[in-house]
Amino acid sequence: MAQLIDGKALSAKVLQQVASEVASLSAEHGIKPMLAVVLVGEDPASQIYVRNKMKRASEVGIGSREYVLDAGITQDELAQLIDALNNDADVHGILVQLPLPAQLDEDTVIESVHPDKDVDGFHPLNVGALAAGSDTVVPCTPQGCMIMLRQIHSDLSGKHAVVIGRSNIVGKPMAMLLLQANCTVTIAHSHTQGIESLCRQADIVIAAVGCRELVDADWVKPGATVIDVGINAIEIDGTRKLVGDVAFDAVSQVAGAISPVPGGVGPMTIACLLLNTTGAVKRQLPRTFDLASGTVNKPIRSYCYVRS
Ligand code: NAD
Repeated sequence: MAQLIDGKALSAKVLQQVASEVASLSAEHGIKPMLAVVLVGEDPASQIYVRNKMKRASEVGIGSREYVLDAGITQDELAQLIDALNNDADVHGILVQLPLPAQLDEDTVIESVHPDKDVDGFHPLNVGALAAGSDTVVPCTPQGCMIMLRQIHSDLSGKHAVVIGRSNIVGKPMAMLLLQANCTVTIAHSHTQGIESLCRQADIVIAAVGCRELVDADWVKPGATVIDVGINAIEIDGTRKLVGDVAFDAVSQVAGAISPVPGGVGPMTIACLLLNTTGAVKRQLPRTFDLASGTVNKPIRSYCYVRS
């Protein structure tokens, strides 16, 4: 039987780290991190995600403000709100819950969030920095997957990782992070041929598709590590249940380690969002002079950012 990678237990450790960072920010700088969460419309899944994020934020001492906007809001109206949040010194992180209603252009919205307040790591400047291997904000879900992988592999160097899915929020940044960890990375997607045999060669499989139990036991090399990012809602005997992209019971018989759904990547994603929020505060700290060392502590990065 595969070792279970318990995202719930691991996320509790990450949240402890966030809580201690929040305490340091308060003690050393008198700052309470503040996350602004923007929700457009009444998508029930988005409402649940937002509620969970705000609940966890409050548990670790991060303040949060929710902005609920009508589904029919215009691009300009949303831009005005984001502009105000960008210029609000009390707000350190801005999260716009995706997906957005069809009349809104997601790329424009993502670009309108100041890169230093981008806690999702979706802004093109942050995406570019990640691709270049620079120190930057890392998208929450792939970041959570990396923490999970490091529980199993102290050294990822030379491992062959197959990432199934090439979205901007999971697949692509996941592949970048694995590459930075010196893995050999294959990205598979809906047009990939022979996906089963590719997966069978992998030491690590990351499934981020949104297709119920796509990865079966005969896709997995004995002893491989399997991380299931997928969330698929199904109904069994009138009861709603969440399942992943991996056939958990069957793959558990073959894999060396496996993450479950629920209780795997989901809680890690939220914990990493809060980690990114304290990271955003640090990026926005003013320049200080350290008398002891005689050095100037700069904010990690700063941008001249003009939105027309
Ligand atoms: P997406 O729809 O943007 O991308 C899906 C990807 O899967 C695409 O790149 C597509 O090419 C690929 N794909 C589709 N069918 C395929 C097939 N049959 N074989 C191989 N590849 C195929 O989705 P996403 O936003 O990347 O999310 C993927 C899944 O992860 C969804 O179930 C989503 O709900 C879940 N998710 C979970 C978390 C979490 O916190 N646990 C976070 C983000 C996304």
